[in-house]
Parts: sequence; structure tokens; C-alpha cells
Amino acid sequence: MNAEEIRKDFPILQQEINGHPLVYLDSAATSQKPRPVIETLRRYYEWDNANVHRGVHTLGSRATEAYELAREKVARFIHAPSPEQVVFTRGTTESLNMVAYGYARLKLKEGDEIVLTPSEHHSNLIPWQQVARFTGAKLKYIPLQPDGTIRLEDVRATIGPNTRLVAIAQVSNVLGTIHPIREIAAIAHAHGAVLVVDGAQSVPHMPVDVQDLDCDFLAFSGHKMCGPTGIGVLYGKRKLLEEMEPTYFGGEMIDVVELYQATWKEPPWKFEGGTPIIAGAIGLGAAVDYLTAIGMDEIRAHDRQLAAYALEKLSAIPDIEVYGPGQGTDRGGLVTFNLKGVHPHDVSTVLDAEGIAIRAGHHCAQPLMRWLNVAATARASFYLYNTEADIDRLASALQTAKEFFQ
Ligand code: PLP
Repeated sequence: MNAEEIRKDFPILQQEINGHPLVYLDSAATSQKPRPVIETLRRYYEWDNANVHRGVHTLGSRATEAYELAREKVARFIHAPSPEQVVFTRGTTESLNMVAYGYARLKLKEGDEIVLTPSEHHSNLIPWQQVARFTGAKLKYIPLQPDGTIRLEDVRATIGPNTRLVAIAQVSNVLGTIHPIREIAAIAHAHGAVLVVDGAQSVPHMPVDVQDLDCDFLAFSGHKMCGPTGIGVLYGKRKLLEEMEPTYFGGEMIDVVELYQATWKEPPWKFEGGTPIIAGAIGLGAAVDYLTAIGMDEIRAHDRQLAAYALEKLSAIPDIEVYGPGQGTDRGGLVTFNLKGVHPHDVSTVLDAEGIAIRAGHHCAQPLMRWLNVAATARASFYLYNTEADIDRLASALQTAKEFFQ
């Protein structure tokens, strides 16, 4: 994989910010878009735009075919047994809320338990708090080790006979920890619980095989994997999708409608009420093609190499504290840190002056910030278009920031 060549596919990376070539290190928030994805969107709107699943005219058929082809591409990408198990949503947040509202709120009752970790993104935390509030179920947390990893013995001790649902991110958006999903699935299933995986940070960055993981639901977002904003995916096991109720009711999702009742289509269409995100899904299909052509194993290896390089470079700067698993532990392609005595927003502002985009804040993980005993952190996150030279620029700008503030 040649990141220098890949960069050329991303028009946005060709610009200067504040007089410096842009170094984009915020892909965990949203990734940049390659030309083939931008072109696919342009072509769709210029040639094929029509509503799907209704018109019998040529444009309607073309749009419907392209939309359903995108579903097939996504299904292949995550090794779903069938395209019907891929529901198009607005993103990870919506996918998780759909499981919370259409499945968990109807199935759980008082005395049941929902198991999470304290490092979950708010999107994989608040929906379950709401389920607990409305059903009387209780939340339980698998404790974190000092580096943010979890131990299987703690998973076994937390999941029990009352556990009905386990929800966990495959990769933490703050610490970069990678959780052992396959093993957690086995433990959850032994107790009859369903496993919901937040794949927002894993699906864009590593090969993900839902059958191998044996997860029951998987949620992810198109915009973090070179696709457009506003499109995401909920994968589910067929039986669970059949049992799950739609969240949105209206056009497109129905079978027969009478004055006092209605019936729904089969999954996934019963979950896609209203005009779906047609261009977004087609754009996501193009993103999947793009990532597949490069190879998810290669992207994973590249992320791993950049994370190791960044850990080495940042750890060598005095007064920088790096959080999460250390060198030698497998981790995602991001590094979270603080410069002692300096608010991460100030660090980020100084870096921006040098054309370097990082994220600063609580990263939608306030309980984890509390656990780290910090108000906020800085985060540099990498993707297929980043190079070691980007990390050298980051390290050198951090050195400047340190001198500026201290
Ligand atoms: N979960 C994780 C781990 C994330 O990193 C994010 C986004 O930052 C989300 C969920 C929410 O994704 P979205 O905002 O695309 O719905």
C-alpha cells in the first residue's frame, strides 16, 4: 500500500491551511472522500436521480438497482450472509438507537441486565440508559484495566444469567483499544444475551466478518470509511431483524395499509421508512469498492504501523502523556494524549496554525474522561492517506506548542 499515491485520490488533502500543507489527523471523527466516491455522487445526481422502489420509469429502475447494488456491496464487505441483513440508516448513532427502540425496549424487563464498558461512545451508552429507564433493566459495566483494555475473566464475571444484551465497541474511539468481540459473543450467547457491536471505528479500518465474530447486531457509519455523511448501516442476524420492530413508520416500509392497521415489508425494507438515503447508499457502495481495491488487511497494517510510529514519537516528547495501550499491544490507528498543563483545545489551536487538524475534547465519551481523570484530551487519528511524514509534522508542532506554552 502506497499512502503517497493514495493521497492523490483525495482532492481535499491537496490544499494549504494557514500557509502549510494540510495534515489531516482527524479521521476518527470523519474521513476524507476519494475522487471515485465524489464522482459517483456527481454521476448519480447528473444521470440517475429518482426515487427508489416506486417509479416504473427508467430513472427509477436505475436508482433502485444502484441502491440495492450498494446493499450487496456492503453485505459482501462485512461478510453478511445476505444483503437483506443490511439496513441503511443515517449512521452508527441511528443504528444503535433503532436496536434500542425497536428491539431492546420491547424485549427487556425489570431485573434484566445490559452490559457495557465505561469507554463507550455516548451513542453506545445513552440509548441503553434510555432502555434501562423505560424497562427497569439495569446497566452493568465491565471494568477497564489501566490501559483501557478489558480482561475476559472480567467479561465472564460481569455477564450473567440476567444479562439480555451486551453492547460494546470493537475499537475505542478514544483509547484505540481493540476488544475481543468473538470471545465476548461466545460468553454473551452462553447466557442467551444478544451482542450489539459498535463498529464505527473498526469497520473502516480492519477486515470485519460478522459471521466470524458471531455478533448479533453491528452498527457503523459511512462517513468514517470514505463514504458520504448521512449514511450508515445496521447489520443484524435475520431472526433478530424479523423480531425487531421498525422505528419509523410511513411510506416505503409498508406492505398493506388499511384505515385502522397496516403490515410491514420484510427486513431490511421495513426499517427504511420514507425516501431512503439513496445517494448516500450509492456513495457508500463506491467507498466500499475503493477500500476493497486497496485491501482491508493492508489498511489495517498501515494503521498499525502509523500508531506504533506515533506512540514512539509522542512518547519521546517530555510532558506528553499518552493514554491507552502502550507499544506492543495491538491497537487502532489513533493516539490520544495531553500536553501537561495545556488544555487540548489550545494544543489543537496551535497545531491548526501549522495546518495540522487533530481533535480535542471529550470525544463523546465523558465517563471515560472521568475514568482517565481528565476534562478532555487531544487525539490524532490516522487513515490510509496518512504517512509517517504527517506524524513527524505533528511531533514537531507539538514541540513548538510545548515551548510556546511552557
Ligand atoms: N461510536 C463510536 C466508537 C464513534 O467513534 C462514533 C463517532 O465518532 C460513533 C459511535 C457515532 O457515529 P455517528 O456520529 O456517525 O453516528
